Amino acid sequence: MIPLRTAIAAMAGYVPGFQPPDDEVWIKLNTNENPYPPSPRVREAILAEVGEDGENLRKYPDPGSRRARETAARLYGFDPSWLIMANGSDELLNNLIRAFAGEGEEVAYVHPSYSYYGTLAEIQGAAVRKFGLTEEFRIATFPERYEGKLFFLTSPNAPLGCAFPIEYIEELSRCCSGMLVVDEAYADFSDVSAMELVRARENVVVTRTFSKSYSLAGMRLGLAVARPEVVAALDKIRDHYHLDRLALAAATAALLDQEHLRESVRRIRETREWFSRELTAIGYRVIPSQANYVFVSPPDGDGKRVYDLLFARRILVRYFSDTLLAHGMRISIGTRGEMEAILEALREFC
Ligand code: PMP
Repeated sequence: MIPLRTAIAAMAGYVPGFQPPDDEVWIKLNTNENPYPPSPRVREAILAEVGEDGENLRKYPDPGSRRARETAARLYGFDPSWLIMANGSDELLNNLIRAFAGEGEEVAYVHPSYSYYGTLAEIQGAAVRKFGLTEEFRIATFPERYEGKLFFLTSPNAPLGCAFPIEYIEELSRCCSGMLVVDEAYADFSDVSAMELVRARENVVVTRTFSKSYSLAGMRLGLAVARPEVVAALDKIRDHYHLDRLALAAATAALLDQEHLRESVRRIRETREWFSRELTAIGYRVIPSQANYVFVSPPDGDGKRVYDLLFARRILVRYFSDTLLAHGMRISIGTRGEMEAILEALREFC
C-alpha cells in the first residue's frame, strides 16, 4: 500500500476542458481562450528576454516579480505592496486556501461556479460548503454572519456569465467573518469590478488572470490585489521562483499595451452581443453575459445532444453533466467567423 494521505487517495481530481493537439483542426470554444493574439509587444519582449544566445535563461528570474508587480500596481492605482503576481490565478486560489484555511476549517463557494475551489480545498483537507443561486442570480440563503475562513465569489460567474453588482459584493463582505475572494478572471469583459472594494474592506481580495482578456493562457499568469498583510502572507507561501523569465517579460509587456487589451475586449463584447441575439432568435435561452462566453440552452433542454452533434463537426464547447447545468452548454466567444460557423450548425440542429 502506498501511504497516501486519506484526503488525496479519496479525491477525484479536477478535469480541465479538453485540449486537442495543436495540429488538429477544431473550432475551439470550450475553455474561454481569447481568439485574438496577444499584444505584439509580448512576442518582442519574450524574444528580447531570450536574447541572441539564450544567455538570460541561464539565470534565475527575479523572485519578487518586481517590474511586473510595479507595472500592474501603477495600472490599477495601488502601491506595489498591495499586489502579487502569480503562475496563473489558479496559483493564487490555491495559496489563499493554504494561507487561510487549516485542516477541517471551512471554505465556501457558489454552485455553479469554478469547481476547482473545491478541489483545492480538498487537497488542503479543508471542509467545503456550497451556496446555490436564486433565479435572480443572488446567493441563496447566505447567512447574516458567515463564519467560514474563505468565500469564493466568481464575478462574472463562470459558467453563467452574470456579474454581481458592487453594492451586493460589499454587502457580502460585511457578512463574511473570513475573507471574501472575488475571482475576477473575466472582469475585463464586464462593466463591474470589486477592485476598489479592496481599499475599503480589509477582508476582500480580488484575483485576475492574463489567460482570457490578455490572450496569454499559455504563459500562465495571474495577479491578486489585497491588503499588504495578505500579500505578504501569499509571498511567504509561494514557490520562490514561481514565474519564469519569459512569463515575467510577457506580463509587463501585456500590461503596458492597454490599447491592445481594449480593442480585443471590444471585439469580443461586440461578437458576444450579436451571437446572443442570433441564438435567442432561433429559440435558445441565453443568459445575458458579462464575460467572454455565454451559457445557452437549446429549445429541447438537452445540452448533451447538441454538444455531441457539435463535437462530430469538430466544434468544441463545454458541456457540464451536473444536473443544474446539463440543460445547456457554455460557449466561448471566438472570432466572428467561428461564431458564424457554430451558429449555422446550431440552426441546422434546430
Ligand atoms: N477562475 C475562473 C473562474 C476560471 O474560469 C479560470 C480558468 N479556467 C481560472 C480562475 C484560472 O485561470 P488561470 O488560467 O489564470 O489559472
